[in-house]
Amino acid sequence: MFKSFINLLFPNCCPACDNALTNPKDFICTFCRFHLPKTNFHPHKINPVSKKFDGRINVHSATSFLYYIKGGLSQGLIWNLKYNGRKDVGIYLGELYGYDLMETDLYNTVDVIIPIPLHKDKYRKRGYNQSEQFAEGLSKTMNKPTDFSTTVKTISTTTQTTKRRYERWKNVENKFVVNDLELFRGKHILLVDDVVTTGSTLEAAAIALAMVQDIKISIATIACA
Ligand SMILES: [Zn+2]
Repeated sequence: MFKSFINLLFPNCCPACDNALTNPKDFICTFCRFHLPKTNFHPHKINPVSKKFDGRINVHSATSFLYYIKGGLSQGLIWNLKYNGRKDVGIYLGELYGYDLMETDLYNTVDVIIPIPLHKDKYRKRGYNQSEQFAEGLSKTMNKPTDFSTTVKTISTTTQTTKRRYERWKNVENKFVVNDLELFRGKHILLVDDVVTTGSTLEAAAIALAMVQDIKISIATIACA
């Protein structure tokens, strides 16, 4: 009785559309489940996400689960994941997409899933890394391990004083190092992030990973803008 009283005050809401869930056991409402704006890029080697990296980095394959639409379901899901403490949204979406990825030859050869790391100060502030949650979901249904610690985001201090403010900010945002160059040798890496826009963050992380010998890098994000 106490639980139903609490539910009346704070009903379980769909993290995509924010409407109350009619079945509290559901994760998202039936309408949203069937109207997720899926890209279905994953079976295709060449697609709008892979094209973002053309001439920049050598990626084996790249894809996004959803289209990022302002005011749409995907924006609601990502907002809840990033700013509302809803880590479970990332895991849920990862689990869904993991099934799709395993059906393709492009992704079923992945050896390890690596989320785009957050700088440790930002991690401490937010309490979690939204890309790690997505990676965890993918890991469950793809049955592949994750690595959260070998690729690290750092702050570069070498050339900052000579750069203007904006460039300095960009510089701070996009520095990654791989701690152990032997660990991923000859491996197929799936690098994952929440939303891909210009792709500059993924590019920077892929550049760091490309230092590893015989590495194969693929990319998967929750959404693409
Ligand atoms: Zn909904």
